[in-house]
Amino acid sequence: MDTYESLLAAVTAKNGKTNEVIDPATGELIGLAPVHGVDELSDLIDKAAAAQPAWAALSDDERRQYMHRAADAIEASAEALAELLSREQGKPLNGPNARFEVGGCVGWLRTAADTPLPVETLVDDGTTYAELHYRPIGVVGAITPWNWPMMIAIWQIAPSIRMGNTVVIKPAETTSLSGLALAAVMNQALPEGVLNTISGPGSVIGDALVRNAKIGKVMFTGSTPTGKKIIEASAGNVTRLTLELGGNDAGIVLPDVDPTAIAEGLFWGAFINTGQTCAALKRLYVHDSVYDAVVDALADFARNVPMGNGLEDQNALGPLQNKKQFEIVDRLVESAKASGARVVLGGNPERDAKGYFYPTTLIADIDPQNDLVIEEQFGPALPIIRYTDLDEAVAQANSLEVGLGASVWSTDIKRAREVASRIQAGTVWINAHGMVDPRVPFGGAKQSGYGMEFGVEGLKAVSQPQVVSG
Ligand code: ADP
Repeated sequence: MDTYESLLAAVTAKNGKTNEVIDPATGELIGLAPVHGVDELSDLIDKAAAAQPAWAALSDDERRQYMHRAADAIEASAEALAELLSREQGKPLNGPNARFEVGGCVGWLRTAADTPLPVETLVDDGTTYAELHYRPIGVVGAITPWNWPMMIAIWQIAPSIRMGNTVVIKPAETTSLSGLALAAVMNQALPEGVLNTISGPGSVIGDALVRNAKIGKVMFTGSTPTGKKIIEASAGNVTRLTLELGGNDAGIVLPDVDPTAIAEGLFWGAFINTGQTCAALKRLYVHDSVYDAVVDALADFARNVPMGNGLEDQNALGPLQNKKQFEIVDRLVESAKASGARVVLGGNPERDAKGYFYPTTLIADIDPQNDLVIEEQFGPALPIIRYTDLDEAVAQANSLEVGLGASVWSTDIKRAREVASRIQAGTVWINAHGMVDPRVPFGGAKQSGYGMEFGVEGLKAVSQPQVVSG
């Protein structure tokens, strides 16, 4: 069982090149993350490749037991992990945040361990016999973003190790310690060489990881531009990819809703992790007949959700994780204000403050083509667009190059499902948004990426399918 101090000491750089890790709520230094070089990466991949045959030779049941023991280790150090995550990422301990994320790691790990993937008999008609096996690929390279640095790491690690692969994982630069700490705790239970961490800049270490010939598969969650670079880098070795890229999820509210009843779901759909979530609700289309009531109900709810330092118990929203993201949100809200859109709440950040706090912001009566609508804000500023014609709202929802998630809000489930069938997105939630589940496959449409994570589909994605015939 780790304390915050022992965990930090275990993952802080002792020598060599380092990267300063800053608390985004206070601007204070948390610690120094290691910055590795490409030679170290190459050695590490060799180590992962050397460990892979023995890991794959274990029975499925033995690997599953190791995964449960790794989940037990996370549970034992959950408070220390949550504190480090809160300090480094900014998300509060409470609410759907740091403790929730660490709990999610345990849940995803155990579900990936317990999801059955039996050999499939494809044909057995007396003359032909063919069955489909899911073999390990080898070494999986995992590259994570800074918004959910532990949970997304588990999304990549858990199916990979279950299927007999070993893993080399590279966390994002501004949240390296969280990724390194999670792996350190899991490694208290896993055999040597199965889960390996490397830390350094994406353009150097990430790129070299993708290009290494011993990496059979890359699991990537991050931006669409970086995803495109990874596609190019993967071409040389025909490396398999699962890409979970950016989104700009639309929600469509039908005229039959009860505005007060949906306000809480809309709020957390949009503002979970202070809006820094791939599949968060990022543009809300509301029918004219309920528009004012929905905006008012959402504002009433939003006004009462406290934002502040994540270590303080009452807070449910934190700062933006880094300055770059603060500036993106600030620019987009300013563009909305300049266009004449109505600021219902927020929109008035303290730009000189030490922390990267951007206040909870609701922008109404906004042009559907405004930058805050068509670009991904990835922060706590929701544009709310008025519509009268549902077909037009669906067309606007589908008008962007991305399509990760979407949602439809209605008391008529049949009608909501019909609308969902017309939306171009990997997931359409009804009366909720962003409710991922380890049993249910998740992935993007269009430039939000390809490949699916979670559930049986997620296990297949980190396997080499092999037909045995005859
Ligand atoms: P952001 O712009 O929000 O930082 P990115 O998509 O660039 O998002 O980052 C997600 C992850 O991808 C991080 O771990 C980052 O270090 C890594 N990364 C960045 N550039 C590359 C690259 N060219 N190849 C591989 N990984 C990269």
